[in-house]
Amino acid sequence: MLETRNLSVFYGRHRAVEDVSVTVSKGEVVVMLGANCAGKSTFLRAVSGLTPVMTGGSVVLDGRDITHHPPHAVVEAGIALVPEDRGVFGDLTAHENLILGAHPRRARPHQAQNLDRVLSLFPKLAERRKQVVRTMSGGEQQMVAIGRAMMSAPSILMLDEPSLGLSPLLCSELFRALARVKETGVGILLVEQNAKQSLAIADRGYLLDNGHIAAADSAEALSRDEKVKRAYLGAG
Ligand code: ATP
Repeated sequence: MLETRNLSVFYGRHRAVEDVSVTVSKGEVVVMLGANCAGKSTFLRAVSGLTPVMTGGSVVLDGRDITHHPPHAVVEAGIALVPEDRGVFGDLTAHENLILGAHPRRARPHQAQNLDRVLSLFPKLAERRKQVVRTMSGGEQQMVAIGRAMMSAPSILMLDEPSLGLSPLLCSELFRALARVKETGVGILLVEQNAKQSLAIADRGYLLDNGHIAAADSAEALSRDEKVKRAYLGAG
């Protein structure tokens, strides 16, 4: 289980994330909703060790404190991030991108099995293994990015707005793929603005408002919440 306790991040004197405590269990999809600049990306970067966190907060994975660990050690511990810009290598093939994801020591001995698992989760990648990534559609590139993260054999997969820029059809495909990833027992922390589809596959969710948690509930309860409906589901 991933657990953050009172995680805070400052950029200079600007407080971007304040006392954020969340949990994500294995096999669970947790969505974090929030407006632009709410601090969602900063929070994911802080968990990943890419942005320093304030003393007093902690990141714990399966009982092990990994606060202030560098990004490579966080991946080794079992947390993989798919960043908002996907971070794929456009000049390499889909297969080469996937293999790069297997670099962490935890994943190297199981590269062949992990590759089989990723290709069965994303059958399209199997068809397109030899294709250069920059010639792929946005949706396919997103699958490469998620597949690469899965090659590190994470116990927690974090995704920063994976549906951004995808057509409605590709969005549905993406959320179906994430539901399949959940079934493998991986815990998913999903930062999204697409509240409708993310809540539909999520077990629980948090609302991040101006850097702090404004609400935490089951996905079902959040879908019925008037504030969520108004702000994220296009009601009223
Ligand atoms: P979006 O949905 O637009 O990506 P977000 O919820 O992910 O927004 P963040 O990107 O985490 O929000 O930004 C939170 C706040 O921190 C914003 O006010 C932003 O301007 C600020 N911020 C983010 N990165 C930096 C940085 N490297 N230096 C200074 N301020 C930053």
